[in-house]
Amino acid sequence: MRAMTVIPGDENSAELTDLPEPEPKEGEIVVEPVFLGVCGTDREILDGAHGEPPPGHERLVLGHELLGRVKTAGGGLDEGQLVAGIVRRPDPVPCACCAQGEWDMCRNGEYTERGIKGRDGYGAELVTIEQDFAIPVPDELGNLGVLTEPSSILAKAWEQIDRISTRACSVHKKVLVTGAGPIGLLAALMGRQRDLEVHLLDRAEEGAKPEAAKALGAEYHTGDITDLSKEISPDVVVECTGVAELVAGAMQHTAPGAIVCLTGVSASRTLNLDIGALNNELVLENDVVFGSVNANRRHFEQAVRALTDADHDWLRGLITRTVPLDSWKDALEKGDDDIKVVVEFSRA
Ligand code: BGC
Repeated sequence: MRAMTVIPGDENSAELTDLPEPEPKEGEIVVEPVFLGVCGTDREILDGAHGEPPPGHERLVLGHELLGRVKTAGGGLDEGQLVAGIVRRPDPVPCACCAQGEWDMCRNGEYTERGIKGRDGYGAELVTIEQDFAIPVPDELGNLGVLTEPSSILAKAWEQIDRISTRACSVHKKVLVTGAGPIGLLAALMGRQRDLEVHLLDRAEEGAKPEAAKALGAEYHTGDITDLSKEISPDVVVECTGVAELVAGAMQHTAPGAIVCLTGVSASRTLNLDIGALNNELVLENDVVFGSVNANRRHFEQAVRALTDADHDWLRGLITRTVPLDSWKDALEKGDDDIKVVVEFSRA
């Protein structure tokens, strides 16, 4: 069977490798991938900023945004059922969080992640998944189920925002989302699903991103984050780029009691920032800044519900390019107007 593999850190190593079909262990099901989304993390793995092959291997099977069909039933999942695959596996110790199924909050860093850290991913013609790590996707979502994994990241982020916002009398109304890629647009979707006023900031002046924002009933902006924050004074900021200037900007000129959620990973970058002024704003206005990564089973289930409730035509507009498995490397090239790019394995 064919698999999308890379040597982490070797940017010319992406290839389609022939591998033996996986043998399911007890408690595992066999899944036939239908669509697999790619994201910035996959590119970072090639660049060496991230990623680790399984122990004793040089190559890593890439891919963590799976939509597949069950081929060998098990654990209440019938043959033909659409499923998404959970990315992270609890650390073997396990830490207090992993022991409770909250592996997204792992405390010792010894977790593994499919297609990312120490475990082969879902980018192969057949994959095995432990039954408890496969999430049923309703047939009505069809191919849109490929958005489950990226949506789980925002379901977790929003769950945390919702929890933090219960700390006092805070009434949150205005949300600023930075970056109108798939993560930003899904963050905006979940903000709209909470009936909030959503502002999206991105560089793109035209095309799929402003259109998607408009269709969602969100306000779309380009330009400087500081000017925008001063103008709207957001109660919640979801930073989805990891761009240093935007990270710095996200924390400033927010409303008193604001919650700032950072979801992007940054390249090393030094900025000249007045930490005293920033500290004063955070302290004197009771602001919260927190980071959010990964997702546990509950968040994948929340993601499936959010996608099911969303306008499916709008979701379809997020998938701007589909690449056949044979030329999967093309999926990693980022086009200007790309939102989500997916690799197609077979027909759904
Ligand atoms: C994945 C997460 C993962 C993170 C860090 C993201 O692209 O969606 O599941 O935890 O990368 O490896």
